[in-house]
Amino acid sequence: MDTQSTEKSVSTETRALLAKLGVADTAVSGGTMASFTPVTGEKIADLPVHSAADAGAIIERAANAFRDWRLVPAPKRGELIRLLGEELRASKADLGRLVSIEAGKIPSEGLGEVQEMIDICDFAVGLSRQLYGLTIATERPGHRMMETWHPLGVVGVISAFNFPVAVWSWNTALAIVAGNTVVWKPSEKTPLTALACQAIFDRAIKRFGDAPADISQVLVGDRSIGEVLVDHPKVALVSATGSTRMGREVGPRLAKRFARSILELGGNNAGIVCPSADLDMALRAIAFGAMGTAGQRCTTLRRLFVHADVYDKLLPRLKKAYESVSVGSPLETSALVGPLIDKAAFEGMQKAIETAKAIGGQVTGGDRVDTGAAEAYYVKPALIEMPDHAGPMLEETFAPILYVVKYTEFDEALRMHNDVGAGLSSSIFTLNMQESERFLAVDGSDCGIANVNIGTSGAEIGGAFGGEKETGGGRESGSDAWKAYMRRATNTVNYSKALPLAQGVSFDIE
Ligand code: NAD
Repeated sequence: MDTQSTEKSVSTETRALLAKLGVADTAVSGGTMASFTPVTGEKIADLPVHSAADAGAIIERAANAFRDWRLVPAPKRGELIRLLGEELRASKADLGRLVSIEAGKIPSEGLGEVQEMIDICDFAVGLSRQLYGLTIATERPGHRMMETWHPLGVVGVISAFNFPVAVWSWNTALAIVAGNTVVWKPSEKTPLTALACQAIFDRAIKRFGDAPADISQVLVGDRSIGEVLVDHPKVALVSATGSTRMGREVGPRLAKRFARSILELGGNNAGIVCPSADLDMALRAIAFGAMGTAGQRCTTLRRLFVHADVYDKLLPRLKKAYESVSVGSPLETSALVGPLIDKAAFEGMQKAIETAKAIGGQVTGGDRVDTGAAEAYYVKPALIEMPDHAGPMLEETFAPILYVVKYTEFDEALRMHNDVGAGLSSSIFTLNMQESERFLAVDGSDCGIANVNIGTSGAEIGGAFGGEKETGGGRESGSDAWKAYMRRATNTVNYSKALPLAQGVSFDIE
């Protein structure tokens, strides 16, 4: 690869894409925050950042906008999200390409991420006519009891680099139809796609016509700007996606001021391959789950428990897949595995591999792949056969490492499966109904996502997304996740001519 000309063309293409998506050149040049593409390691922008004072002013504007936006009927708010979905459809190719440049995703995954945004917009439009509460039987004659759902206020969104646009849309589409306003602090590793989303949102606002300004805004900066969002008294809810380390800092700060939180943190996801498994299907699901997105999904498959009866059939095929998988530039090749986000990710991966080796791990892959770009970090995904469930496999390393352990007893596999801090996604490969039902039962997988004959990654937007334990317990996206973005009021209306008290209490004054 001719590195210099590739770098030049990535930079030039980025500028052209940003202009096409509607991002002003002044927003991406002349500032102090450098932005890099993992594809070549090259700097592609110098962004002006927001100060803490700017962030405070932006949050105040969002709080003002909320006063008007909450009064707009929910189905009309849904119309704004319908227009956002239309704008995203029109910009899908360009935004998907920008995701590939900024996060290093292969083209189908970059486009898939934008499709996820479109899907959640469709979902939220329908939801805008379904923000319903219950009517509940009362013990008092001539009374009616019901629930009403109201918007919360300003919703802060903090997002990770690996889903640079979808996570914003999951939160924003729901938060906006629910009547809230949004302030978004994207990852400092992926600010350009965030500015592109803002430009797309602004086009939807313009077409909508009479929405208050500032109902969705972006904060550019590092974690210190995220901290402003976390600590500001006018931010009612913070939805924070990122590492468990980040959640440990953010969670207590929000709790201290009684703010609401949705925490979407790290995963250490596992799969179990049982004796009856369809191994062809399992192999494909494992390959995508473990190597897809270069192992940089929160739902990436990181631990695999394979029954002794099928171990020697599956492992050679899996090794072959690891040895032959194509690694390369997502912009110039049809490789299935793109780059790691940066040098720190590469070093973290190498450290985990060395630690695993020291306790008996047998490694296939894991080496750096030279693409000619010194500051880009491409690796062969690593498959590590482990003697025990121990060492680095108990923690999430955000890179493509799959640890494999042989098992003989189902209960032992289940015990190891649940014996980690994180609790995001899980899967079992079996054609045995007792095993699959047990996996989904109360004493089965302890994760927020439990799948049968499907890998751990690639969730649809229709279900509630999130995980337990050190993954944070938050839920976003589909099902009834919208309730987290609203407050519930219980209303009791007396239409009788008496005032009976509940529980038969009497309090008769003269
Ligand atoms: P990260 O924790 O380094 O950063 C995430 C975001 O949090 C960034 O925007 C960062 O600026 C901000 N941040 C960090 N510390 C903060 C603080 N003290 N106060 C306020 N904001 C702070 O994570 P990353 O490296 O960008 O992403 C990878 C991690 O995210 C992995 O652990 C992955 O599993 C997790 N993740 C989880 C989900 C999920 O839905 N559960 C989805 C995507 C990624």
